[in-house]
Amino acid sequence: MKASVLIIEDEHDIAELIKLYLENEGFCVLHSDTAEKGLELVENGKIDIIVLDINLPGMDGFEFLQALRKEYSIPVVIVSAREDDADMILGLGIGADDYVTKPFSPKVLAARVRANLRRYMLSDEGEKSGRNIIRLSEYIVEKDAYLLKKGDTRIPISPREFEVLVYLLENPGEPRTPEEIYSAVWGNNFGDLTTVAVHIQRLRKKLEKDPSRPQLIETVHSLGYKIRKELIS
Ligand code: CA
Repeated sequence: MKASVLIIEDEHDIAELIKLYLENEGFCVLHSDTAEKGLELVENGKIDIIVLDINLPGMDGFEFLQALRKEYSIPVVIVSAREDDADMILGLGIGADDYVTKPFSPKVLAARVRANLRRYMLSDEGEKSGRNIIRLSEYIVEKDAYLLKKGDTRIPISPREFEVLVYLLENPGEPRTPEEIYSAVWGNNFGDLTTVAVHIQRLRKKLEKDPSRPQLIETVHSLGYKIRKELIS
């Protein structure tokens, strides 16, 4: 699958140049000319890495990074026209992964994007995907901490139950078969698939108002289980 790069850059010529180059390098490229729209794109879809301009109209690149880092660990490569080192250090201090200064060669930028993406994918964070906090209806799921909460109340959950829940949350609206769930959570294909049904039942007891008529984790007849997109934020 192609990796998705989000370019946040208000200068269209530069954005277009980066876009063309990265597409030729095999990336799927999205572009936003403001940080605000960039954040929406991050929230809506699966972005693997961000190329971020600092001088933007409205919210600037630093403010974008601060907002992004509250919930996401997606790698960010800063593209800056400011030669000022203090800006660079500040940028790195608040969660940028790398930077290039304008004018830059698209080849160098593409190499940096590739290197940062690779580093991220090899890290634990990458394995667990970019997002740490997921909301399901009135519940909050904190992936890194294996925490399930309703308001401030922690709901006891086993690690496997938690992983089944996260797997369904990370595939919103898409039914997953017991085979797929087993293979994703238990890491092999040789288990007893009723284990999956047992874990789903336990999750429903914890999450559903009426576990016999589940509204959150739905059964999709002859396919498996799914959580509707509208319930996830
Ligand atoms: Ca700019």
